[in-house]
Amino acid sequence: MPARVFERYLWTNPEVCSECFARIRTEHTMTRDQWGNTVTELDRADAGIQGYDNVNGGGVYLPRTFCEDCGGRGHADPETDSKIQATRRATQIVARLDERNIPVDARALRRATRVLKSKPELEALDREIYERATKIAVRRAQS
Ligand SMILES: [Zn+2]
Repeated sequence: MPARVFERYLWTNPEVCSECFARIRTEHTMTRDQWGNTVTELDRADAGIQGYDNVNGGGVYLPRTFCEDCGGRGHADPETDSKIQATRRATQIVARLDERNIPVDARALRRATRVLKSKPELEALDREIYERATKIAVRRAQS
């Protein structure tokens, strides 16, 4: 289970900004009709703000959800995070897992993030760092 936690609840989760891991949307499942068919909708929440993005550079601006916390579009920025940012991101990861009632060792997560961030071969690989740190911290909380 720990191996997939980061990918499932943070990286590919549309509710979470994959740049800084702030919550930007909340998913609601609603019953649509008398036969019990449901529909899932995403509402902007917390750090999510309405913005407009020039889609495909074609001059057409469409509403998009931006992340207020990092100013991003909810997708990972190609620039790597600083050490201070990385520690802040780790705190957000803990908050997102807490919301899902997934046990995580917050101190282990922050420590692992710092240690991994200081390795020259990993320094530029943010996703790899957060994924590994999350795995370590979730495993730690289970033992
Ligand atoms: Zn963000």
